[in-house]
Amino acid sequence: MTEAGVQVCPTCKVKIIKMIGGDRVLFSTGAPGTRAVLWARVCQYAKTPACINQDRDRIGTIQAQDYYQPEANKKPEAIE
Ligand SMILES: [Zn+2]
Repeated sequence: MTEAGVQVCPTCKVKIIKMIGGDRVLFSTGAPGTRAVLWARVCQYAKTPACINQDRDRIGTIQAQDYYQPEANKKPEAIE
């Protein structure tokens, strides 16, 4: 494994791994996600140009499930 393709957002402290077909984001807890998930959960609140995940072209389309899901709304089959 090489760290060459890894960026860390200085604002959000989240690792973004460059990958073909879509970057992967490693959160401090939970499963890895996409830039859209990172933006929906973290970077939209950053409000600083230092955040490296503010480029909407790279973030792509943000879907409803990319946002934090309240526990009450979790479907049983989504829990593994
Ligand atoms: Zn960020």
